[in-house]
Formats: sequence, C-alpha cells, structure tokens
Amino acid sequence: MNVLVINAGSSSLKYQLINVEKHDVLAKGICERVGTAGAFHKHGIDDNEVVIDAEMADHNQAMALVLESLTSGPTKAIDSLEEIDAIGHRVVQGGSYFDKSVLIDEDVIQKIDELAELAPLHNKAALMGIHACQQHMPGKPMVAVFDTSFFQTLPPKAYMYPIPYEMYEKHAIRKYGAHGTSHRYISQRAAAFLDEPLEDLKLITCHLGNGCSISAIDHGVAVDTSMGLTPLDGLMMGTRCGSIDPAIVTYLIDHENLTAQEVNDLMNKKSGLLGISGLSNDLRTIRTASEEGHERAQLAYEMYSNSVKKFIGSYIAVLGGVDAIVLTAGVGENCEKMRRMIFSGLNSIGIELDPEKNKERGYEREISSDDSRVRVIVIPTNEEYMIARDTYRIVEQLG
Ligand code: ADP
Repeated sequence: MNVLVINAGSSSLKYQLINVEKHDVLAKGICERVGTAGAFHKHGIDDNEVVIDAEMADHNQAMALVLESLTSGPTKAIDSLEEIDAIGHRVVQGGSYFDKSVLIDEDVIQKIDELAELAPLHNKAALMGIHACQQHMPGKPMVAVFDTSFFQTLPPKAYMYPIPYEMYEKHAIRKYGAHGTSHRYISQRAAAFLDEPLEDLKLITCHLGNGCSISAIDHGVAVDTSMGLTPLDGLMMGTRCGSIDPAIVTYLIDHENLTAQEVNDLMNKKSGLLGISGLSNDLRTIRTASEEGHERAQLAYEMYSNSVKKFIGSYIAVLGGVDAIVLTAGVGENCEKMRRMIFSGLNSIGIELDPEKNKERGYEREISSDDSRVRVIVIPTNEEYMIARDTYRIVEQLG
C-alpha cells in the first residue's frame, strides 16, 4: 500500500510517499513559504533533490504542485494518483477527543477545527492540507494521526494543573503533550532493540531536537510527559524557554511594558539556547562558540543538559526505576558531547555511558557501558513511517 504522508504547517507542506509493506520512501519533499513571495518546492531524496521556485497562493496550489511532481517529469515516482492508496495527515492537537489515529470524516474535521483554539497555527494548517487532498483526490481514504493521542493515557494527577478546577472545566486547560508519534515510535523500536516486550519495560524517551520533550512510559503506557497545554512547557529548547516560574510572565508584562502576546513570542521564539547565548538556536553553533570560550554559549549548553538531567531524575521517581533511556532527534541522535553531559555523574543511580560507544555513529545503537544497570540507547525517530503505518492499519480494515 502506498501512503502519502502530509505534514502541513502554517506556511509549509511536507510530504512523503511511502510504500508501507516495503518500508520504502518513494518520494519526499517540502513546499515552503506557501502563501508568501519567494515560495519554493523541494522534491526528491538526497542527491536527487530538485528545488523549484513556484508561486503557491495557498495549500491547495502547493498540493497541486506536489501531485504533479509525484506523477510527471523528472521527479516522477508513480504513474498516476491511482497509485496512492491512502493519505495520512499529521495533526498536532487531538485534545481529549482522540486517543488514537482515526479515519477522517466530517465529524473528525469539525473536531480538529474546534480544537484549533488550543493550537491555532497547527490545526488550521492541518485542515488546509486535508481540504486540499479532498479537492485533488476526492474519495481517497484519509487518516488523522495526532501528536497528542499517545498521551491520552496520562492519569489526572499528571495531566491536571494546580489552578482552579473550573479552568479545566471551562477551557479544557490540561496537559496534552506533543511529539507523541515520535515517543510512540522510539518506545516500540527500543523494545524491539532490547528484544523485550514493551509491556515489560519502564522507559524514559527523550526527543531532543530544536523542540524537546521527554516522556515516562510505564509498561507501554505513557504516564507523564514534559510538554503541556502547548509545546512551550518542559525542557529548555532551541528558542522556547520550557518550564519557568509562571510569575515571570506577569512581571514582564508589568516591568517591560509588554503585551501578553509579546511575552508569548518572547518565550516561544527568543528564549532557550538562542535567548541565553544571544547567538543561535542551533546546538552546533553553540557548541563551537562555547569551545572557543563564549561564556553565554557555554552557559546555554550547560542549562540545556541540566534541564534534561532534571527531567530524567524526576521520571525515574515517577516510574519507580527505569530499564532504559531512549534518545532521539537532531541532538539526541548526533551530539556525543551533550549526551555525555546529560548522563555525567549518574553512576550512583546505575546509569553509565560507554565513552567509545557514545562516539560511534550509526542507526539504532546502545551507548551505555556493560556495567550500566540502566541501558541507554539511541533510536533515530521516524514519525512519517509511523503515520504511514497507522494509515495502513486503519485503511486495511476498511477492506
Ligand atoms: P526539529 O525539532 O526542528 O525537527 P531536529 O530534530 O532536526 O529539530 O534537531 C535540530 C537540532 O539538532 C539543532 O539544534 C542542531 O544543531 C542539532 N544537531 C543536528 N546535528 C547535530 C550534530 N551533529 N551535533 C550536535 N547537534 C546537532
């Protein structure tokens, strides 16, 4: 079955065409700056990538370009749209409605729209992608895969915030989490790597990229996660602050004369590694600068690793121990130095890296020492494959 995976952002449209049985990516690409001047379309895999400048007034036009690239010209991957069996859409916010991926119908569309209040940019973008597919490929089965659904198993003691209960009743303010598809994928792959049933394991999964989140998974069930009502909460990230004293918000409004929206922007776009270093949100730049003696880059680096370390400690307490800690995404998969700093000094609680294994590159691998009671493994994430697989399962059941 060929599944077209769509990840629509407010001004972008990412896609992959995946043959699920063969685990094969037939084509992939991204349309960027959709709806603005300077829009372009990148299509292809690795060295065969082509970049095409093209006007795209909206997601509908972007989708038309994508489908044309998939079926004609030098970028062609299939002969006709008939060869696309189903479409899987990434949707950021599924609220309390969706605890798993679902076939898209009018009711699902209406609920995604209703939930846009909780993730305004993201859910509206997903809807644009869904509508564009309906227009260009009417009747094709479509599945919504939510970033939040994996965390619908959190118990109330983990998902409630200690603010007046009426705020939960009135506004549905609670923890929903994010990156759920990634955490679900790496927990399943980790169990396969360890050759043990997921149901027998206590895992801590760390998605460390530009956005960062960490989850506690107890025998296959997510019991806590660091992102909250929105993806701003939890770990320090590239440009997001993560958890801070909430009183800072009102302090800034009062003393910097900022509006609520401006403080929101400051916390989402100007904080984290960028805010502390004053240089970049990219950890590679921060690392180089810190090695050259840039003090604020060094501080940013230390704060990032400390933020992950603190969450790992608290999730070990939540789980009552841990069998394995799993790392993924740009930093988790690639940054030997950050991994070293995160796990330094944890020998006394049974976590020890093997310095040589930590330096190795590769696919799924273990980086803990033979003596480490807790195993530490690196699993490259693959959210697109997970979306394709969910879509396959649901569409196959339709017969
Ligand atoms: P996103 O959340 O945007 O998907 P990624 O998972 O691609 O993010 O991660 C991006 C982050 O990973 C950046 O901070 C980047 O510097 C970092 N990164 C990627 N490769 C390396 C590397 N080899 N060493 C250190 N950091 C890296």
